[in-house]
Amino acid sequence: AVIWLGRALLALGGVGLVWLLAAGPMKHAFAGSTWLVAHTRPGRFGGGRDTALRPLDLNAPMLGSVTPSDFSWNVLASFDACIQCGRCEQACPAFAAGQRLNPKALVQGLVHAMGGAPAYKGSPAPLASAASGACGMHHPIVGADASIHPDTLWACTTCRACVQECPMMIEHVDAIVDMRRGQALMHGAVRPGAARALRTLRDTGNLAGRPPAERADALAMLDVPVLAEGGETDILLWLGDGAFERRYGQSLQALVKLMQRAGLRFAILGEAETDCGDLARRLGDEATFQALAHDVIATLAVRRFSRIVTADPHAFHALANEYPALGGAWQVQHHTALLDELVDAGRLKLSPQATGTVAWHDPCYLARYNGQVDAPRRLLRAACQNVVEMERHGLRAMCCGGGGGNPVSDVDAQERIPDLRMAQARQVGAQMVAVGCPGCTAMLEGVVGDRPEVRDIAELVLDAVVAS
Ligand code: SF4
Ligand code: SF4
Repeated sequence: AVIWLGRALLALGGVGLVWLLAAGPMKHAFAGSTWLVAHTRPGRFGGGRDTALRPLDLNAPMLGSVTPSDFSWNVLASFDACIQCGRCEQACPAFAAGQRLNPKALVQGLVHAMGGAPAYKGSPAPLASAASGACGMHHPIVGADASIHPDTLWACTTCRACVQECPMMIEHVDAIVDMRRGQALMHGAVRPGAARALRTLRDTGNLAGRPPAERADALAMLDVPVLAEGGETDILLWLGDGAFERRYGQSLQALVKLMQRAGLRFAILGEAETDCGDLARRLGDEATFQALAHDVIATLAVRRFSRIVTADPHAFHALANEYPALGGAWQVQHHTALLDELVDAGRLKLSPQATGTVAWHDPCYLARYNGQVDAPRRLLRAACQNVVEMERHGLRAMCCGGGGGNPVSDVDAQERIPDLRMAQARQVGAQMVAVGCPGCTAMLEGVVGDRPEVRDIAELVLDAVVAS
């Protein structure tokens, strides 16, 4: 009887342990340690940055994630690792603006999708459409009758603020892009605005839908050489699709004037430049991204240069970090790094100007994606007399709202993300916001009413160089 009693207690203890690990209070500890041991981006441990999206095998039968079973086991464990601390929710610009996205609710939606928990009842996104339908490992995750409403999926700007804050190192952006890939490539279910943007991109090779020759119009008076097939230069200046806009054209003019003053040997691609595919990739259209990337790689393979410089952090990130997996590997610099280098080497002399109080707005794809927060600040202090910091700055800066395809995805909101960002600039008395991204320029300049002036850092550096 004693032996049988012992066996029964042992069996009971075993069942209890399994319950503790599978559904009880130990679940997050077990899932969390499993996830941290089998993390998909081990390079992040010890402060490393590993932010490039992984290429998708376009010949695979399943593209992206449509049901929970399409995620790998370790990624599924990562969703269960969420301890619902809410740090991601606090950091998310889309949530702050009242868009239909709360990253904490999204992760809990994924746990629900697996059948691992009841539908999330915590603080939802302000305008969130209800989506608490059927679930299960082989049931679609995204849909009005599923676990995550499509409105939620397309509201993300891919800013990585949630990832930066998450104590469990959950990769929200990877999960979102995986689900977007499933929607875009398996169902063709992107938002109408995004579908139009992607069509324009495929038809014309740029998002503006303009003839390729017009990309360099803003530089027409500056005699910038075009790097022809078989040609050679030191620096290839990558203009990006923002070059089609008059305002960003002014930023590029300032950058070119600085490069000419520093005596650099550089050239542009002219008509041969096409979009780098950043937007297509964030929207989940990996097929368009890879097609564009292969075109770019073929174009650059027949030209010689030492490095690429660009004033577009999205192009910088894609070319520097995401193209190597597809066979294109070059030294790539954001223009703030180049200008910082030129100032440091004494090739540009600056006299700090009385611009009024100025704050640097960190672009997500430069700061959080690439950890580059010091060079722009050194430059700004060299160019302007009165520099201040916004409360959210550096790796914790707030997104302008322009990334991840958010502006073309017909996203509803209570407020605009750039309005919130400008309010943060006003809070520290900034009369000017310095930017280093065509997307940030467009979003922040789009804020109406009395607001700080918006200037690209190259424009401020040029003023300081001219005055010295
Ligand atoms: S990446 Fe940015 S916008 Fe997307 S869920 Fe995370 S914090 Fe929100
Ligand atoms: S920060 Fe991470 S652990 Fe905390 S609620 Fe968000 S996803 Fe969960």
